[in-house]
Amino acid sequence: MASRGSKREVYHPGIRCDGCSEEPITGTRYLCKDDGCELSESLCSECYEANKGVPTHMYAKLETPMSILTFLPPRMDKETVYHPQIVCTGCGATPIVGPRYQCASKTCADHVNLCEECYQAGQHATSHPFSLIAEPHAFKVALNPRDDP
Ligand SMILES: [Zn+2]
Ligand SMILES: [Zn+2]
Ligand SMILES: [Zn+2]
Ligand SMILES: [Zn+2]
Repeated sequence: MASRGSKREVYHPGIRCDGCSEEPITGTRYLCKDDGCELSESLCSECYEANKGVPTHMYAKLETPMSILTFLPPRMDKETVYHPQIVCTGCGATPIVGPRYQCASKTCADHVNLCEECYQAGQHATSHPFSLIAEPHAFKVALNPRDDP
């Protein structure tokens, strides 16, 4: 990391990050350049690295407002199944990639989600029943608690 404050910070006047609402975006700006994307989001580098926006879309980066656009490969390929904005309670991964496991216990009130790895590793209460959501619009499938005798 370069030392902060040695140079005037680069910023993108009037451009707001669709991930964290920072305005203006400072540092590198990432913008969606996917064909037919109606959102045309802009992201700051932190949000881009955290897989915010649409990770299967192709983005371009702009280091300063005067820079030439550099096109980047999509962060995830189009076939990747992921659950936007869902955070894994076990490992903190967001979005959850692959199947999503949601705790169906009343006490957890739908706030607990696990990724495949964390579910299999026995994260969260193994006595709680979970629902499996294979992809974002799939029906929930009720599963038995993992430590069910
Ligand atoms: Zn941001
Ligand atoms: Zn897009
Ligand atoms: Zn996880
Ligand atoms: Zn639970």
